[in-house]
Amino acid sequence: MSQKTSDSSTMPIHWEYAHAPESTDHVQYEKQYGLFIDGAFTHYDPSKSFDSLNPATGELLYQCTQADEKDVDAAVKAARKAYEDHWGSIKGSTRGKYLYRIARMLQERAREFAVLESLDGGKPIRESRDIDIPLAAAYFFYYAGWADKLAYAFPAKKVTPLGVCGQIIPWNFPLLMLAWKIAPALACGNTVVLKPAETTSLTALKFCELLQDIGLPNGVVNLITGPGQTGEYLVNHDGIDKIAFTGSTGVGKKIQQSIAGRNIKSTLELGGKGAYIIFEDASLNEAVEGIVNAIFFNQGHVCCAGSRLLVQEGVADRVIELLKQRMATLIVGDPLDKNTDVGAINSQNQLNTIQRYVDIGLEEGAECFQCEGNIPSSGFYFRPTLLTKVSQSSTVVQEEIFGPVLTVQTFRTTQEAIDKANNTPYGLANGIWTDKGSKIFHVGSQLRSGVVWSNTYNKFDPTSPFGGYKESGKGREGGVQGLAPYVHLESNVEAEA
Ligand code: NAP
Ligand code: MG
Repeated sequence: MSQKTSDSSTMPIHWEYAHAPESTDHVQYEKQYGLFIDGAFTHYDPSKSFDSLNPATGELLYQCTQADEKDVDAAVKAARKAYEDHWGSIKGSTRGKYLYRIARMLQERAREFAVLESLDGGKPIRESRDIDIPLAAAYFFYYAGWADKLAYAFPAKKVTPLGVCGQIIPWNFPLLMLAWKIAPALACGNTVVLKPAETTSLTALKFCELLQDIGLPNGVVNLITGPGQTGEYLVNHDGIDKIAFTGSTGVGKKIQQSIAGRNIKSTLELGGKGAYIIFEDASLNEAVEGIVNAIFFNQGHVCCAGSRLLVQEGVADRVIELLKQRMATLIVGDPLDKNTDVGAINSQNQLNTIQRYVDIGLEEGAECFQCEGNIPSSGFYFRPTLLTKVSQSSTVVQEEIFGPVLTVQTFRTTQEAIDKANNTPYGLANGIWTDKGSKIFHVGSQLRSGVVWSNTYNKFDPTSPFGGYKESGKGREGGVQGLAPYVHLESNVEAEA
């Protein structure tokens, strides 16, 4: 590690770190995968193949089989059979044992899953190692504990499973989103058919190998890889009792239309445009560090990212100055390097989307600051970006960009901050930075979002419910609230253990 001195006394010291790549020796994956149906992998089908790339290089990583309507039907039938034959009626404590086994095995194989997640999705190894994989295991541990205590989760109600759950997840937290879906569903006695995102199927496929290792009964979890069309087949299949979707608001609306009039339950975890509000009494250095976590964590591919900075006028210049200094120290590069702060953008498509939004911002009058420094010449990368001189009506303030791009606006009064934060179609998460506890409660109670963090951001815990207001969706995942979307409840019936 060597120190590079800065000309300006106000600039922070820059450190140059030696390359510190995570070892990949312990990681094995197939070059080609079939689907996982009824406890076994089908053969890879070259006639229905699609590629998954390593976004850090743009090169082919592995190939998957695209599930067609017949495959989806086979997966749903396998899930139905498993539900009716045993899983829907076995003791909760037995289901709990399987879930504990999954959780423990994920912990044991955490390094392997972390490397695969970074290879396939582009996220920094520090994040997959310290956040994604440990949290995925934590959700399985948490819901394993509920499997034999459902009567206590819903006192004085008769609790029964729904049956077969169709589950569709996005590419930003592949294994974690899988855990959010599968753990509560199985704990409640349901079986599942899950579709991962097209660009990130690898940890879901490895997860199915893990299920074979722990001896989960066949058909309880089925995996169908493929594009949006595969997801549509699943949504439209009349053999499912529930659809759980995490993804964009546009697709969420389409799904809502498809299931209208059908007697199935749904949860929709959709997009967001979180405000990150800094009051002038906040600890500014901490608040600026919080911004790095709010918008540059996972390249900004975070539904609850704090992508709109609202800063009180008196401290705005100072916050922007501190933020630019901090951004200049961020290391953008190889996701497998342990020094990397900002990894690769998940796909060429997403990179194009982010660039398009920044261009629109500039056309509409924004000023753009990007940190300098080298970024890899191949693969998909985007520099952490700050857009100032934007207004409430700017496209980049209104629409979800889903990349490392932060817009900056100022406010004078507390009410103005609340109004600006709420002036969005979304309502997933917001953050407040202030020294005053009373202000946290006053502002927090008026923000229309499922989550409000104060003096921190992007903190997750299995015991805490997560979900949206308005166009950010409906239903909650996590916590005891996350059980409700996976059960039928009958009122006034004596509880059955
Ligand atoms: P997306 O395009 O909506 O895709 C999500 C999933 O749905 C993918 O598996 C996708 O398949 C599939 N899909 C696409 N079209 C479909 C259709 N017509 N019917 C059924 N399934 C379909 O979203 P994304 O770009 O992957 O993910 C980013 C979005 O997810 C952002 O808006 C983000 O805010 C949101 N998100 C929300 C939460 C939350 O908890 N609220 C968490 C994470 C992400 P393909 O893989 O082929 O596209
Ligand atoms: Mg990939």
